[in-house]
Amino acid sequence: MPVSAQLFDRAASVTPGGVNSPVRAFASVGGTPRFLASAKGYTLIDVDGNDYVDLVSSWGPMILGHAHPEVVDAVRRVALDGLSFGAPTEAEVALAEAIVERVAPVDQVRLVNSGTEATMSAVRLARGYTGRAKIIKFAGCYHGHVDALLADAGSGVATLGLPTSPGVTGAQAGDTIVLPYNDIAAVAAAFAAYEGEIAAVITEAAVGNMGVVAPLPGFNAGLRELTTEHGALLIMDEVMTGFRVSRSGWFGREGVAGDLYTFGKVMSGGLPAAAFGGRAEVMGALAPLGPVYQAGTLSGNPVATAAGLATLRVADDAVYAALDRNAERLGGLFSEALTAAGVEHQVQFAGNMVSVFFADRPVTDFATAKASQTWRYPDFFHAMLDAGVYGPPSPFEVWFVSSALDENAFDRIAAALPAAAQAAAAATPEGSRA
Ligand SMILES: *Cc1c(COP(=O)(O)O)cnc(C)c1O
Repeated sequence: MPVSAQLFDRAASVTPGGVNSPVRAFASVGGTPRFLASAKGYTLIDVDGNDYVDLVSSWGPMILGHAHPEVVDAVRRVALDGLSFGAPTEAEVALAEAIVERVAPVDQVRLVNSGTEATMSAVRLARGYTGRAKIIKFAGCYHGHVDALLADAGSGVATLGLPTSPGVTGAQAGDTIVLPYNDIAAVAAAFAAYEGEIAAVITEAAVGNMGVVAPLPGFNAGLRELTTEHGALLIMDEVMTGFRVSRSGWFGREGVAGDLYTFGKVMSGGLPAAAFGGRAEVMGALAPLGPVYQAGTLSGNPVATAAGLATLRVADDAVYAALDRNAERLGGLFSEALTAAGVEHQVQFAGNMVSVFFADRPVTDFATAKASQTWRYPDFFHAMLDAGVYGPPSPFEVWFVSSALDENAFDRIAAALPAAAQAAAAATPEGSRA
C-alpha cells in the first residue's frame, strides 16, 4: 500500500475526510490524494518518492516555484529574530507600502491571515461605512468560507440568497443577493429593486473559482458605474489574481478601480498572510481610527511578512513575462492534444490563469460552467497525474503556472497530454471515477 494511502487512512481518523481543506481529498476526481514531502522549483515529491510537475502552485501563491532561494533565505533570517511579537514591525510597513505602490486605488491596507478573513473584514467594513446591510455577489465566485458569502441564488433574478451550507443561517445569507456573473442587467435590476439598501458588490476581479472565467468587456466597468451611481462600494476580490496576473494584479491589466480590495495567496509567499485595503476615507472607518472592529493576534506576522515581501521583490517584469508565456504555452498544449483526440473543449484564460472546460462554447458564468462535461475531467486528471503532472483535482479550478517551468517541464507535460486527452475522449457520464 502506498505511503500516501496509509497516511490518508491515518489522517481520516483524526481529521474529517483526512484533509484540512476539502478539495485536497480528491472527492471530485476519485482516488487517493498524494501526501507531499517536499518541493523545489516546479517539482513536487510525494511521500512515496514520486515526482510531479506542479501545475497547482499551492492554489496560486507559488508564482516563483517552490523553495525559491531568496524567499527561503528571507524567512530563515527573520525567524532567527523571533516568530511573533503582537506589536508593530518595520516589515509590515514595507509590505503595506509594496501593495499600495503596486495597486493605485489602494491607499491603505490592513494585514490579516487568510483570504477568508480579508473578504469577511471588507464586507463588514463596507456595511459599517455605508450603514447598509445588503451585499451583491455572483454565483460561482468564491470569496472564502465567510458565512454571508456562502449563499446560493434563490429562484429568479435579484432574490435574496439561501444558505449553501448547514450552519449558515437564513439571516446570515439573507442579506446576500446572488446574481449570475457577467450579467450587468441583473445588477442594475437588483440596485433598482433594493434602492438605498446595498452596501457593496463583491466580485472576483477575474474569476478563477468556477474555472477561469474572465469578465466580459465592460462588465467590471459597469459594476463601477452602478455602484458609484447608487452609493455602494465595489469590492474587488484579488486574492487569486493579485500580484499574479500582473505586478498590479487584474487592476494592472484592466484599470477598473474598486473601492476596496482583498489580497492573499501571492502576497504571502506561501505562508499565512492576506490583506484588505482601499481608499483612505473608507479604511479610516476601521478601529482604532473608526468604529468598525477588526483585529488579529498573528496579523502582520514577521515570518509571513518576510516571505511575502521577498516574493514581491523577486517578481520582476521577467517573472510576469514568464508566467504569461508559460500559461499560453500550457493552454496551447491542452488545445492541441484535445483537438487531436476529438474532444470538444474551451481553454480559457484570465491573464496567466488557465483552465479547460469540456464544452462546445465559451463559459461565461456558473450555469455554463456547470453545464460543461465535467465527467470527462477525472479521467483526464488521473492520466496526467499518472504521467507525473500534478493538476487541480477539480474541474472548476485553475491550472496555475509558475515562472520556474522550463523546457524539461513542458516536455513532460507535452508527453503526458495525448494519453490524458484520449482518456477524456473515452470517458462517459456513468463511467466517471469520482
Ligand atoms: C482563495 C480565495 C479566497 C480565500 O482565501 P483563503 O486564504 O483560502 O481563505 C478568497 N477569494 C478568492 C478569489 C480566492 O481565490
